[in-house]
Amino acid sequence: RLSIKKITTGSRELDNILGGGVETKTITEFFGEYGTGKTQICHQLSVNVQLPPEKGGLSGKAVYVDTEGTFRWERIEAMARAVGLEPDKAMENIFYQRAYNSDHQISIVEELFSFVPKNNVRLVVLDSVTSHFRAEYPGREHLAERQQKLNAHLHQLMRLAEAYNLAVVVTNQVMARPDVFYGDPTVAVGGHVLAHTPGVRVQLRKSKGNKRIARIVDAPHLPEGEAVFVITEEGIRD
Ligand code: ATP
Ligand code: MG
Repeated sequence: RLSIKKITTGSRELDNILGGGVETKTITEFFGEYGTGKTQICHQLSVNVQLPPEKGGLSGKAVYVDTEGTFRWERIEAMARAVGLEPDKAMENIFYQRAYNSDHQISIVEELFSFVPKNNVRLVVLDSVTSHFRAEYPGREHLAERQQKLNAHLHQLMRLAEAYNLAVVVTNQVMARPDVFYGDPTVAVGGHVLAHTPGVRVQLRKSKGNKRIARIVDAPHLPEGEAVFVITEEGIRD
């Protein structure tokens, strides 16, 4: 069996609370309110996965599934340049897919079971994993169906991560007031969506200026405590 590998986030502090970086063979969920850095982290990991192992990468490629239209190639160029990768090469190594609805998102992931092994993909990003499901299955009358579909989707992603020893990173926007979600069984108290799926849950919140604070939720095997990182023009840093 292939061993678990790690991708650096660009922040040593954030890597430390993750036990060295974002792991393969699992799903890592970054959740938090708007502007907490979820999308920036996804961009950074899509660049960093391409780095050689001695620089914190997996010499691999990324699939980026964008559900909200917030992916920016300019950010990839800037982040690539900052870590010493050739920007054009870095962009070629990211397979960008816009998902237009939840069925489309599900079918993109199903197709990855044949695409990934042919293309040295070591990271699959879904930014965000929840937005289409929330929009298409609103209200209490659709909760059971939404939860069932979302859990099946997450289960597929877990299988993909395990089968090909790759990292799956998903984002999930939660509102500033988590009580809004109380009573919604697709999100646990506190807001994450991986309640019924194994994986690593990282809560993000804003601090002063460009500072952000990350905390791992419900992971007895990982170090406790919080990590402070910054979002800069060059990307995620300590
Ligand atoms: P949402 O839930 O709305 O999708 P998010 O958690 O994905 O939010 P991001 O888009 O990752 O949030 O973070 C946005 C923040 O990243 C901006 O507020 C800004 O502080 C920072 N940021 C984005 N681009 C740059 C840049 N080029 N240089 C410096 N900081 C940037
Ligand atoms: Mg975002």
